[in-house]
Amino acid sequence: PHRSVQLADVVCDLVERGCRPPLILRFPQIINHRLATIQSTFEAALQRNEYQAGYRGAYPIKVNQQHRVLAAILDDSEHHSIGLEAGSKPELMIAMSLQNPGGLILCNGFKDAEYLRTALHAQALGLDVMIIIERLDELSTLLKLTGSSDDRPKIGLRARLRGKGSGKWAASSGDRSKFGLTSAEMLTAIEWLSEHDALDDLRLLHFHAGSQISDLEPLRQSLREAAQLMLELRRLGATRLDHLDIGGGLAVDYDGSQTASPLSRAYTLDQYAHTAVSEVAAICNRAGQAHPHLITEAGRATVAHHSILVVEVIGEDGTLHERPDVKPNESIPEALRCAIDEVQHYGIDAAQKQANIRQLNSLTRSLFEQGIISLPVRAYAERVERTALTDLRLRSRHTKPSIDLHKLDNHLAETWYANFSLFQSLPDHWAIDHDFPIVPLQRLNEEPLHRVHIGDITCDSDGEIRRFVGQRRIEGFLPAHDLTAEPYYLGIFLVGAYQEILGDLHNLFGDPDAIELAVTEKGVDVRYTDRGSSIQEVLHQVGYDHETLLQQITASAHGAHAEGKLDLAKLRLITEQYRRDLMGYTYLEPPESI
Ligand code: PLP
Repeated sequence: PHRSVQLADVVCDLVERGCRPPLILRFPQIINHRLATIQSTFEAALQRNEYQAGYRGAYPIKVNQQHRVLAAILDDSEHHSIGLEAGSKPELMIAMSLQNPGGLILCNGFKDAEYLRTALHAQALGLDVMIIIERLDELSTLLKLTGSSDDRPKIGLRARLRGKGSGKWAASSGDRSKFGLTSAEMLTAIEWLSEHDALDDLRLLHFHAGSQISDLEPLRQSLREAAQLMLELRRLGATRLDHLDIGGGLAVDYDGSQTASPLSRAYTLDQYAHTAVSEVAAICNRAGQAHPHLITEAGRATVAHHSILVVEVIGEDGTLHERPDVKPNESIPEALRCAIDEVQHYGIDAAQKQANIRQLNSLTRSLFEQGIISLPVRAYAERVERTALTDLRLRSRHTKPSIDLHKLDNHLAETWYANFSLFQSLPDHWAIDHDFPIVPLQRLNEEPLHRVHIGDITCDSDGEIRRFVGQRRIEGFLPAHDLTAEPYYLGIFLVGAYQEILGDLHNLFGDPDAIELAVTEKGVDVRYTDRGSSIQEVLHQVGYDHETLLQQITASAHGAHAEGKLDLAKLRLITEQYRRDLMGYTYLEPPESI
């Protein structure tokens, strides 16, 4: 926590080393710090509440399955013995090969016989595997697979609690949720386990109240309901039920508000841990029953902070090139000339000026529609209007203006383009209106006078960011500096959870270059650089074989040569360039001299 880096310098250095924006910067030390903080906070809560059992964190692999992320998490587990949660067969296969000997694996998700067999194999290899039943048919398959074998599985049941969570993912819990066993199904599970003499295999009760829980109150109710359910299951014969897995949901403060907004949380980590521990302890104490070991599956709170997406601004829309001083040659009607004069007149009240600008706007439009003014005159009037608005904003920003500056800022926002794909790198912003903090990385000691939206390079108007985390609220623009000949980078923060894997190949923009960095006392060490997808890799994913494509191009070139349309030098140029492009980056590459 006491070490810092200048991200702009890091990025410039990486670009010199051949890394190509957009870049994902990973700081595994931040993951280690998050894990240690969550663990020690829970340990303190256990102590404070005189809790008689332990706490273990488990990382849900689905949140970021990248090998480097898992490696960072398990690297640390020497100290904290972190568990892994798998939600599918491929994730289970990662978990069983990477988890440290004896380490915990929680098997969630839909399970077929293959999944269950693989989980049993993981247990046979010495891993501490909990098979969490989400649907009754999984239990019946499991009971058939294990029969009367001496190797008993550790079984968990996922509860469908009545209490609903909070925040955007509240529907993951509640009695209409997609997951878990109802009360009646729990009773059936107990009957089946009893019939197979397997009640002792029931070791865990699980619930998940939804991701990004913004408020603790609904969680508190779920904890009470789950703890009570656990006691009931014990009463019905599951006497070895000794783990309560309270799922994920520990929220990240994306908007900095520390409120119950969907992008934040109205509680601290300490309060979260204390609530979990004290609620479960109170219910067990009241019933004179043993405390269960507590497990959490914090995903985003573990990895969101560790990675930063860096994108380079590559240009702006046409408005910046306006030159209000250049008057058109055509004559300007008297009414328009007066409106322009009034707008250019200084020393009047801001509200009056704004009214004059509005009047100029509507007059220009109506004169053009009637065919009274030409396109050059219209462009001139629009330039005057925009300059006056910018001037009004700059003059009003340090005074107490009589106008709504915020509205004006929104109105004036320019569109800048950055070399990245929103669909690949920030899918939640596009899909579920999830906002991430975005900050220019350089010139932070200069006042940013521009107000901008950020467009990506996909051919899709959805590929644009128009909402930004501001100091007090979500703003309709990002403050940014004048663009110069120097590269201008934006850092998009807290993107380590869900974004990489949910990202898609829209327009066939692939994975960006990713760099793993360690911050030392002396500076920054580049640990790994992972090249992003090449064009041939993304083509492969949609069914194109690059060799076949190349053969087709070569055949066309030879055909064109045979018809005398292409000389041999051009033929070679086209085929070699195509071959090189197949290996190239899917994003825009730095301009070369043409
Ligand atoms: N556990 C389960 C069962 C989940 O479905 C999820 C995600 O929704 C998580 C854990 C991780 O949640 P989060 O990333 O909010 O901690």
